[in-house]
Amino acid sequence: MAETAAPTDEELSGAAALLEAADPVATLEWAVARFGRRLALACSFGPEDLVLVDLIARNRLPIDVFTLDTGVFFPETYALWRDVEARYGIKVRAMRPAQSIEEQAAAHGAELWKRAPDRCCHLRKVIPLGAALDGLTAWVTGIRRDQTPDRAHAKMVERDRRPGLVKVNPIAHWTHDDVWAHLYLHDVPTNPLHQQGYPSIGCAPCTSPVGAGEDPRNGRWRGSVKTECGLHVAETREHAS
Ligand code: SF4
Repeated sequence: MAETAAPTDEELSGAAALLEAADPVATLEWAVARFGRRLALACSFGPEDLVLVDLIARNRLPIDVFTLDTGVFFPETYALWRDVEARYGIKVRAMRPAQSIEEQAAAHGAELWKRAPDRCCHLRKVIPLGAALDGLTAWVTGIRRDQTPDRAHAKMVERDRRPGLVKVNPIAHWTHDDVWAHLYLHDVPTNPLHQQGYPSIGCAPCTSPVGAGEDPRNGRWRGSVKTECGLHVAETREHAS
C-alpha cells in the first residue's frame, strides 16, 4: 500500500470540526480521500456497524470491512454475516484469535469469560484487532456518543489510543433513533435478536436480554462492572473492558 503522510493534530481537529454536522457519507468520503486503502471498518454486525456497511456498499466506497470473530457469536449473528455478504456482494473478512475456544479452555481453563472477561476479551478481540489494524492509518467505527460515558466525547475524526492510528466515527453524532430509521428506510438486514430483548449483542456467553426501561448495555457482561470490550476505551484507561 502507498504511504500516506501522517496527519497532524491540527489537521485532525480541523477535520473533526468540519465534519461535525456532516452526513456520514461525507465523513467516509473524506476518510477515503485522506487515507486511501489504509482504511478499514471494524464490523460487529450491530445496528451502527450495519448502517456503515450499507453506506459503504451502496456508495461503492473502497473500504475493507472486517469482523472480530471470537468463535462464540450467536447463531443469529453468523447467519446475519452471511446475509450481509449476500445482500451487498461484499466480503466481511474474519479476524480470529490464535486459539480456538477449546484451545483457550485447555490453556486458561473453561469459560474464561466467567472468571476473567478482560483477559478473554484481550485474547479474542483486542489482539486480533491489533492484527487487523496493523498497516492501517485509520479505522472506521460505529461508536455513538450516547452509548456509554467512555464514548461521550468521541469526535468525528480523532487519534486512536494506538500510536499512529486515526479513528473515524461517522455516526458519532447520531442517536439510536437515527440509526434505526436508516436501517428501516434502506431495508438493511439486522439481527433478529434485537426483537427478542437484545438491544446490544456481543458474544453469546456475555450477552443477555434486558428488561423494559433498562439501559440497553446492561445486557452486556451482566453482573460485572465491565462495560467495554477494550476496543474503544480512552487512552488514559487500561483496557477498561
Ligand atoms: S465478550 Fe465475553 S466471550 Fe467475548 S471475548 Fe469478551 S469475555 Fe470473551
